[in-house]
Amino acid sequence: MQKNIKKILIANRGEIACRIIRTCEKMGIRSVAVYSDVDRTSPHVILADEAYSIGKPMAYLDMDRIIQTALDAKADAIHPGYGFLSENADFASKVAKAGIRFIGPEERAIRLMGNKLDAKATVKPYDIPLVPGTEQAIRSADEATKYAQKIGLPVLIKAAAGGGGKGMRKIDDIKTIASDIERAMSEAQNAFGDPAVFVEKYIENPRHIEIQILADQHGNTIHLFERECSIQRRHQKVIEEAPSALLDQELRTKMGAAAVRVAQSCNYVGAGTVEFLVDAYRNFYFLEMNTRLQVEHPVTEFITGLDLVEQQIRIAQNEKLSIKQDDLHINGHSIELRVYAEDPNNGFVPSIGTLVQYQPPKAPSVRVDGGYRKGMEIPLHYDPLISKLIVHGTTRSDAINKMARAISQYQINGVKTTLDFGNFVMHHPAFVSGQFDTGFVDTHFYNTERGQNAQARIKNHSLIAVALYEKLKAMKA
Ligand code: ADP
Ligand code: ADP
Ligand code: MG
Repeated sequence: MQKNIKKILIANRGEIACRIIRTCEKMGIRSVAVYSDVDRTSPHVILADEAYSIGKPMAYLDMDRIIQTALDAKADAIHPGYGFLSENADFASKVAKAGIRFIGPEERAIRLMGNKLDAKATVKPYDIPLVPGTEQAIRSADEATKYAQKIGLPVLIKAAAGGGGKGMRKIDDIKTIASDIERAMSEAQNAFGDPAVFVEKYIENPRHIEIQILADQHGNTIHLFERECSIQRRHQKVIEEAPSALLDQELRTKMGAAAVRVAQSCNYVGAGTVEFLVDAYRNFYFLEMNTRLQVEHPVTEFITGLDLVEQQIRIAQNEKLSIKQDDLHINGHSIELRVYAEDPNNGFVPSIGTLVQYQPPKAPSVRVDGGYRKGMEIPLHYDPLISKLIVHGTTRSDAINKMARAISQYQINGVKTTLDFGNFVMHHPAFVSGQFDTGFVDTHFYNTERGQNAQARIKNHSLIAVALYEKLKAMKA
């Protein structure tokens, strides 16, 4: 029997670090924050029981520094949050070797699921439907052309090691595929340190629906229903909800069972998310598995009443799951809006600046997971997520109304944010009716007058702005 965890170092920052600290507090576990030079006065530093400086802005990626800090602070576990080192198999293994518990799955599961090609190969024997695609990395443009001709256009070139919506390229014209493959490989090498790319059938107008799972060290695996994540920009989620308006009990049960088999295929332990695309005919296809806590986990917490961070900690200290599949029920409806410092009217380009005015809403059934205070600057080194606004309603339309009201009560000045975009979505007939897909932003938001202006501007400025932003970020790192 392993001893209970007494002190957790949180290898992260912003809202998710604050979120993890709150559960530590609740469970009587001491929390240890680490902070970079630009985060000295951040809320996570103040909230934690102890805090240690780690230096440069990108030190959240410095495995040895973080492990040494955990040893110095006598932490017996490390929680990686999401992003940064959370899906780094080497980190999980180094943490374990240092005699510290990693709050997440084992190295092997992280490695297998971290590579989209390996993941597809791993789950295939478990009767999991896959998006049709090449089973190996593409070695030549010729090979890619042949495959695209075989399955038909459009196709998507994807980086095997990709993540965060990066490293994807849609191909509509067979003539461009050769040059696109070259470019995709060099981009994959630069962004992920691995040039492997593969070709996948491009599913038209799919919905992104994912299943939250929990697996303990005793062989029990359950799912906590689905999250609908089809409202995306740049292949990255902005609004999520649970349950999905698309699923009925039958499809929910089928997808839940498939997600549990995916977890079993890699002997998964901990909290994880199995992502699927669902096509217009309600066929679902495995996309990938995220071997960590997900940004949008709060909507699942609202509809199940469970604290997912607490579950992660209990699993890490070898406890058996206390809930069985049949005990779980969906309670009401929850929606999350990611409040990013971005300008939706200019291609969602990051809007860096100071939070001159900052007042989140306070109301029953409204939760704000934030990482900033009034007067703070949003640093350009990290994802520009200011907070997550989450509401819980008795029904979907109640949740939509609550979200619209909460957005109107949220005051932010000094940076552009996705709040207005959230308001647009809450009032849009396609969203309200539940008839939407991952093309929502292109079809409905850019297809308005403001959107068309925005798109014209994107061509001119925002691609340049995003490129400059990335460059500046790299320099400051
Ligand atoms: P989720 O599925 O939890 O919504 P996201 O795709 O939004 O996850 O990513 C969560 C965080 O992790 C973001 O900060 C994102 O930029 C970062 N991230 C995830 N995977 C990668 C990756 N491979 N490379 C860089 N950043 C990543
Ligand atoms: P990441 O690791 O960057 O999160 P995913 O494979 O999870 O990459 O895909 C992110 C998003 O990209 C999906 O939610 C979906 O909108 C889009 N996407 C990915 N694969 C396909 C596909 N084969 N067809 C259509 N859209 C896709
Ligand atoms: Mg994904």
